[in-house]
Amino acid sequence: MLPFPVLEKAQAELCDYQDTGCSVMEMSHRSSTYQKIYDAAEASLRRLLALLDDYCVLFLQGGATLQFSMTAMNLARRNQKAAYALTGVFAEKAFNEASRWCGAYQITNAEGRCTVPEIDPAALLDNTAYLHITGNNTACGTMYKKTPPHGDVPLVADWSSGILASVIPVTDYDLIYAGAQKNIGPAGVTVVIARRSLFEREPDPLVPSLMRYDTMDKTGSMLNTPPTYGIYICGLVFEWLEAFGGIEAIERVTREKSGMIYQAIDSTDFYEGIANPACRSLTNVTFRLRDQSLTPAFLEEAAAERMIGLKGYRLIGGIRASVYNGMPKEGAEALADFMAGFAKRHG
Ligand SMILES: *Cc1c(COP(=O)(O)O)cnc(C)c1O
Repeated sequence: MLPFPVLEKAQAELCDYQDTGCSVMEMSHRSSTYQKIYDAAEASLRRLLALLDDYCVLFLQGGATLQFSMTAMNLARRNQKAAYALTGVFAEKAFNEASRWCGAYQITNAEGRCTVPEIDPAALLDNTAYLHITGNNTACGTMYKKTPPHGDVPLVADWSSGILASVIPVTDYDLIYAGAQKNIGPAGVTVVIARRSLFEREPDPLVPSLMRYDTMDKTGSMLNTPPTYGIYICGLVFEWLEAFGGIEAIERVTREKSGMIYQAIDSTDFYEGIANPACRSLTNVTFRLRDQSLTPAFLEEAAAERMIGLKGYRLIGGIRASVYNGMPKEGAEALADFMAGFAKRHG
């Protein structure tokens, strides 16, 4: 979900952006009007995350999935290694892509269980270019509650489904990437936040220009035409978040929303949580009905009450409730009430 006020603002400005006589979709990305939209979006995100100039903010394309390759291709030489914490579906995909380029190896493995094992920095091998973690595991519903120790190896994280929902100590990381469609804006934009000192070493000459962080930083994400309309909507979301009171304020709401659903899981034997309770995600609440034959009825009855998108990730099964920033508290409350009622009716 996107915050409703953002959709309303986009609707009001759709055909004629601030008396320019054209839609943001129709503007040249080289126009000064569009540049202002871009700069405002970047500045707002920087304020939200308290970022200084030693970090760049990029708005790229290709989704989080292209970052699985770009991180490896920019940060590792082909003869180097990269450590991967395999905590879920997307962590494995990231590992597989990096393996095409460099010597990727597993530093922890959740072995199919939905948990986030501790990382022992002593297990980092020599010649490791970076350690990659998936900050929030969208499918299992687990997250890192603390930044893992990583010695002097740069730390890279996929925070696609956790960014802007709770406070992430961004400067603990050397690079964070996130596909916008989970908690930032519409699909088609990928946000990358990276320590600029990472770019001091030129990447391998094989890396395409469009996939080089240093080039994209130098050109203000505009080596070619960026996803202009998507970036504009991201900017509206950042503006909305700032007016809301910033990330600390939204984190309180995120905790309330997921807390209500976890409470509904834990208060009856009818449901069981999928994630290890110590690693429960604040944004993706995953659970099963103990009698799994009732899952289709659960989804059907929920849909009849206009609660949709609850089916778990196909490899995990069960139910997944995502409570990203656009989801109002009433949505989580309605689901928790529905869960209690469903358990009573079918228990
Ligand atoms: C959704 C998701 C992805 C995939 O994102 P795309 O933008 O579709 O490539 C990768 N990582 C995580 C953690 C995700 O939640």
